[in-house]
Amino acid sequence: MKYIDLRSDTVTQPTPEMREAMYKAEVGDDVYGEDPTVRKLEEMAAEMLGKEAAMLVTSGTQGNQVSIMTHTHKGEEIILEENSHIITYEVGGIGYLAGVQAKTLKGNKGVLNPEDVEKAIRPKNIHFPETSLICLENTHNRAGGTVTPIEVMKKIYEIAQKHGIPVHLDGARIFNAATYLNVDVKEIAKYADSVMFCLSKGLCAPIGSIVVGTKEFIERARKYRKMLGGGMRQAGFIAAAGIVALEKMTKRLQEDHDNARLLAEGLKNIPGIDLDMETVQTNIVMTDISGTGMTGREFSLKLKEHGVLVNGGDDFSVRFVTHYYITKEDVKKALSAIEKVVREKH
Ligand SMILES: *Cc1c(COP(=O)(O)O)cnc(C)c1O
Repeated sequence: MKYIDLRSDTVTQPTPEMREAMYKAEVGDDVYGEDPTVRKLEEMAAEMLGKEAAMLVTSGTQGNQVSIMTHTHKGEEIILEENSHIITYEVGGIGYLAGVQAKTLKGNKGVLNPEDVEKAIRPKNIHFPETSLICLENTHNRAGGTVTPIEVMKKIYEIAQKHGIPVHLDGARIFNAATYLNVDVKEIAKYADSVMFCLSKGLCAPIGSIVVGTKEFIERARKYRKMLGGGMRQAGFIAAAGIVALEKMTKRLQEDHDNARLLAEGLKNIPGIDLDMETVQTNIVMTDISGTGMTGREFSLKLKEHGVLVNGGDDFSVRFVTHYYITKEDVKKALSAIEKVVREKH
């Protein structure tokens, strides 16, 4: 049975063109700096993001953690949104690996208030940890793929510069943000000193993320990547798919956003399902299904019987994610399956 898989954009398989490129990739030992395909991907990524240098990493988590390790020293403090991926889904890595503590701020639909950021920066005092990094997330995953506007990024960056603090952007889905804002991705990246983005999500590459920054930053980051076991040898096979991802997949994301909107509009009309249309900006739809009388788990198990996959746990929040392998037809089919499951429960 072929499922309509709305669990995440991480479930995307490499396209036939990616498989072909991987098969034919010219490779070398990348720890020796001798993999031409990795080099090509890194140069392309740096150029697209408007930064001096780029580095291929195994995952988004590794990219964020390596970036934080490179920007900070043990005992310092970093500012993050309280539901950010780094805080929620990276296994407490900032404490374990970088040895920093978190100052978390509540965002509004994932967007930090620049004034709150400025207030959170520690004054110089013998008792206080030094604030050494501000992390942003655009689009914001847990808030439902919401986008931080350029003006907000700019304001936060200006505050950071005034205080001499670097900004790291968790831009796992930065191309979705650029699509929503209808700007070149450089316009977002320029308000951060380092950016991590994923090749493996909506861009459909099977493995890999990228970190960009200054040449000096990336050189230091390469040592931390090696320390975490991310020094890969013939990584050109991975990079080859990443090149196709950047060339072919970054400009088609509006289709996923349109499908997410279609899905959200349908879900909104199903009794018992609640969602905030204002957060439906990119390819993620966050819902509260408590009105259906089902937990996320029960809902997802029932939906699976109708050929639709979603992630559901013991609470009532269910996230739907559209991607390259979800068509408009799939959205319509998923909606009628959801309607049926909700009706059967009543
Ligand atoms: C997916 C994601 C990551 C991490 O990516 P992995 O490759 O799964 O480690 C980081 N940040 C955000 C916002 C994400 O959505």
